[in-house]
Amino acid sequence: MKIPEKTINRLSVYYRYLYFLSQQGTDSLSSKNLADLVGSNPSQVRKDLSYFGGFGKTGKGYSVLDLKSQIARILGLEKGRKVAIIGMGNLGSALAGYKGFEVLGFKITAVFDNNPQKIGKKYKGKICQDIAEFPSAVKNDGIEMVILTVPSEVAQDIARIIVNAGIKAILNFAPVHLNVPKEVKVSEIDLASELKSLSFFVSGHQYLRKGLLTEKLK
Ligand code: NAD
Repeated sequence: MKIPEKTINRLSVYYRYLYFLSQQGTDSLSSKNLADLVGSNPSQVRKDLSYFGGFGKTGKGYSVLDLKSQIARILGLEKGRKVAIIGMGNLGSALAGYKGFEVLGFKITAVFDNNPQKIGKKYKGKICQDIAEFPSAVKNDGIEMVILTVPSEVAQDIARIIVNAGIKAILNFAPVHLNVPKEVKVSEIDLASELKSLSFFVSGHQYLRKGLLTEKLK
């Protein structure tokens, strides 16, 4: 059975809420509780979980701790993933200090740049390494994922270095599509395009009033 990518994305969101609920000491919750938290509906929650066998007991809901650890297992978060950031400019250095990664099982273990003024400098406790060191760092330190925050002009070249070093997952903030082999997964975060969609949504209400768009836009 093919598991939809949207289900995987929703599991990450469920995990985040389950983490916070477990911190607050909540023992159990229903699919409706979880759906309300994430802005979904109970049948969607049950369907997503059913791909992996379902975890609740009918009428009793889910144990927060159990569901959290099951989702961590499905997403491969149990052992913690080592992540590197390449490009220690505005965005890279802000992300290096983001505490939310660790909470979800991601550890920024290394940061890289090619600027001699940045190499050797500390970013949130991590010494910035020369990008030339990246392949050996992957081999020696067990880096599994990369957050890419370099200018778009160099992003494809750096992607080649990342792929050749054996990395299979890249979170790309550079506003450019990366060509990578099909076994490598790239998530592209294009903030400007997201804003464009929101802008269309804002103007979309005018079209909606004129009957030029479907209700789906609401
Ligand atoms: P920046 O110029 O501040 O930082 C880029 C960093 O990449 C610099 O430290 C630079 O030395 C390094 N770099 C350049 N070439 C490199 C190479 N070959 N190898 C290793 N490092 C290299 O840029 P930024 O504002 O942090 O943005 C980074 C990327 O994220 C850009 O592609 C940008 O379009 C995108 N982005 C930024 C923002 C933002 O708010 N800053 C928002 C959305 C997207």
